[in-house]
Amino acid sequence: MNLTGRRFGRLTVLGPAAEPGMVLCRCDCGKLKKVRASSLTRTSKPVRSCGCLRSEAGRRNGTGSIRQNSANMLDLCRRYGTQPGRLINNKLSSRNRTGHTGVFLNEKTGKYIAFLWFQRRRHYLGSFRTYQEAVAAREEAERIYFAPVIAARKAELAQGS
Ligand SMILES: [Zn+2]
Repeated sequence: MNLTGRRFGRLTVLGPAAEPGMVLCRCDCGKLKKVRASSLTRTSKPVRSCGCLRSEAGRRNGTGSIRQNSANMLDLCRRYGTQPGRLINNKLSSRNRTGHTGVFLNEKTGKYIAFLWFQRRRHYLGSFRTYQEAVAAREEAERIYFAPVIAARKAELAQGS
């Protein structure tokens, strides 16, 4: 099928590309893009731009655009001094070996050490004989440091911002 000269959304087909099945297109934004001919003519989710269409849509929704999301995240970090989302999820780091975030075993001393990272600072919570004590210290610190931030952020989310 010769698609040369045909228009698909923002893409105008300039002619067949070197690769079989591919065509060279010019997008209305000025970019050249090689596209599989069948992805222009298919009925389900056909390609309609060089990718600029999708990124504009992302900017409009405030979702899908990495730049916008990281700007939001930076704004949150500035206001809270930390990432509230990370506090809310409180996901265990893959490097963690003790099963509790911020609790580490000091292999030299055999003691458990508890830390808490908050507002770019590492807070040392102490060194403990047992894992349970270290976890308790960490949980106590989470209540003190994290709870106000989480509460403030959840209230903000509830208001839809
Ligand atoms: Zn484009």
